[in-house]
Amino acid sequence: MIQIAIYGKGGIGKSTMSANISYSLARMGKRVLQIGCDPKHDSTRALLGGRGQTTVLEYIKNTPPYDRRLEDVVLEGKMGIKCVEAGGPEPGIGCAGRGILSTFDTLKRLGMDDMDFDVKVYDVLGDVVCGGFAVPLRNEYADGVYLVTSGEFMSLYAANNILKGIKNFDKGIPRTAGIIANCRGMDRELEVIGRFARAVSLPVIAAIPRSGLFAEAEARGMPVAELFPDSDAAAELGKISAHVASLLGNPSLLLDSKPLTDEQMGRLAAGEEVRPNEGGAAPGGPSCGGCARKKALIDAKSRPLVASCAAAGAVYACSSVRDAVTVIHGPRSCAHIMSSSRNLSEIRRGRRRRGMSDPQFSRMCSTEMDDTISVFGGAGLLEEKLNDLILEGHRNFFIVTTCVSGIIGDNAIDVVNAISNAHPDLYFRVIEADGNIRGDWEDGYIEAADAIADMIRGDVEPSPDCVNLVGERYFFRANEEKEDEAPEMFRKFGIKVNCRLIHDCDMESVANFRRGRMNFIVNDDTGARGLAKALGGRHGIKIEERLLPYGMHEFREFAEMIGREFGREDLAREVLAREEGEYLAEIAAHRKSLEGRTAAVESWYPNSIDWVLDLLQDLGMRVMFVGIGPERHFRDVRKPSRHEGRLRFITDYSRERFDEETKGEKPDIVISDGMRGDVEGTRHTAFMVRAGVGVRCTLRLAAEIDTLMRLPAVEGWREYAKSDDRMEDERYAS
Ligand code: SF4
Repeated sequence: MIQIAIYGKGGIGKSTMSANISYSLARMGKRVLQIGCDPKHDSTRALLGGRGQTTVLEYIKNTPPYDRRLEDVVLEGKMGIKCVEAGGPEPGIGCAGRGILSTFDTLKRLGMDDMDFDVKVYDVLGDVVCGGFAVPLRNEYADGVYLVTSGEFMSLYAANNILKGIKNFDKGIPRTAGIIANCRGMDRELEVIGRFARAVSLPVIAAIPRSGLFAEAEARGMPVAELFPDSDAAAELGKISAHVASLLGNPSLLLDSKPLTDEQMGRLAAGEEVRPNEGGAAPGGPSCGGCARKKALIDAKSRPLVASCAAAGAVYACSSVRDAVTVIHGPRSCAHIMSSSRNLSEIRRGRRRRGMSDPQFSRMCSTEMDDTISVFGGAGLLEEKLNDLILEGHRNFFIVTTCVSGIIGDNAIDVVNAISNAHPDLYFRVIEADGNIRGDWEDGYIEAADAIADMIRGDVEPSPDCVNLVGERYFFRANEEKEDEAPEMFRKFGIKVNCRLIHDCDMESVANFRRGRMNFIVNDDTGARGLAKALGGRHGIKIEERLLPYGMHEFREFAEMIGREFGREDLAREVLAREEGEYLAEIAAHRKSLEGRTAAVESWYPNSIDWVLDLLQDLGMRVMFVGIGPERHFRDVRKPSRHEGRLRFITDYSRERFDEETKGEKPDIVISDGMRGDVEGTRHTAFMVRAGVGVRCTLRLAAEIDTLMRLPAVEGWREYAKSDDRMEDERYAS
């Protein structure tokens, strides 16, 4: 099997090429998959007789994980070609890079790797100022890249830029297949393209003549190779397919990427012949910083990727330091997306509501790259931005690189070193996150958190009444109110929170991190565990295994431990008695209406739900079963429950299993740790992954169940709402 990616400037005809190449390959008897990676999602139209198809991103948005099926997003087109459209966000409100990663990840999870193909064709979007551009270059996707270009110079500049990107990604393995000349009808166009091809040592695989046949075929929803099989265009397209087929048996036909320097491109534009390899390596070649980063590129074969980018994770972590500025070295759209991403915007909204100033997003700024960086690079922009910020009086800086600076090989470290030498009293730290090139949100978060932890001083003594909180995150709006729960819980024991790393801290509290006598993880997730590991490994800082407590049962153990560790047993007993008194009083009130009612509990995430099961039993409710969801990579970290053996647990739980289990008797309520949509014939509540800290979270859930239970489970209007949904689905399908 070989995977090829079709690259080129926006509007150069990549989708047309891709569909025709796929068609010709299929006619040669090859089993072909075509994946359209452009948010325009029109790549496979000609293979589907002019029909559009549901994009994977739309599908993910509208379909819960347990209802997803591969056949819903992989359609069969002409000659048995399998067709997928990744889709993308609306311009300006999302990142196509992240979307494409989500698509690939979803296809993998749905079992795409089990399907047999001879050739996979990726039709890539043409905008270099976009993370989606880089995704198929990751080495687990495209083996070979075809560059589509006309003789126009912007098109050739884009082709050269793509060669730089390939060079940054190739790990020394040849990955360039050749050039496809898609002529625009310029004078001596093939001569210009030929000159460029010779300069970069690549063959021109085919020269597609400018022809009205393409428009005609497109209007009829067919590939040119099908509608006009005897045309010159079809003959040239056949050459490309033959070349792809030859790669199947002989990948050594793939060539090194040898981009030209800007100066060489200028000479080429002036009509000069540029000899291959003359004048040293272009940016992205062995002498540049981008090359050094190649060693650290993440091999995503080894683990699943989630829908986000390392730059966003790094920005989230860095911008938690109140007295530092986080400079996002990338396009304006990255900063926009990161500032309005759910975690930051939720914090922002919550803080505004509480009248707090200086929200996390206001400490971020961007170098605002635009398309000119494909010609000039972005180092100058970074230098200018940092100098402006210094003039404004800022003293501490985190610089986070995005996919775009990664693709074009900007060396942010060199720029920052030069400025730092001129300002030795200021603090600078570069996080080479490189957007989605270096990994996902967690990778960037851990890398940045690790860098922030470098500020921790070794000569600070612990204080008797201080603790630190590690790895707090508040993703959901409902969690804003919980932000102060952890410090509040410690206050009850007369203990101060010294540093909230990484959540809301400053340079000083990080430097004095060792003042904390004990260190507690707040969220049990890979980010927090990664940070804990870094703190333990490099700094020898011990992080408690025990998480902050959820629910009454855990709070009892926690209060005893705090009393013991901090020598305040009497106070701890007092606090416990008070909390327990409040808990029992509220539970008794709810029990009046809830005793004897039934619940089904669903758990899709690895976090413990024992506090929920404790609560239901305290409320006198009957738990019909506990469904454990099928997320394989989560199950590895799921801890055993205290209730196993006493309650009925169903592993490999699914929505179908719910229907089976509740055929005879519907539970009064379904309680789930994830969003589940409407549950027919009963009530539903979701507490999401992180419910809060201490006893309050339990009482919140009890109150919610009580309220829901007072409402009817089935009412006429709900049926109307459902039939509306059904009609909407049918309209959509047609
Ligand atoms: S850095 Fe992140 S937000 Fe920016 S283009 Fe890359 S994936 Fe998208």
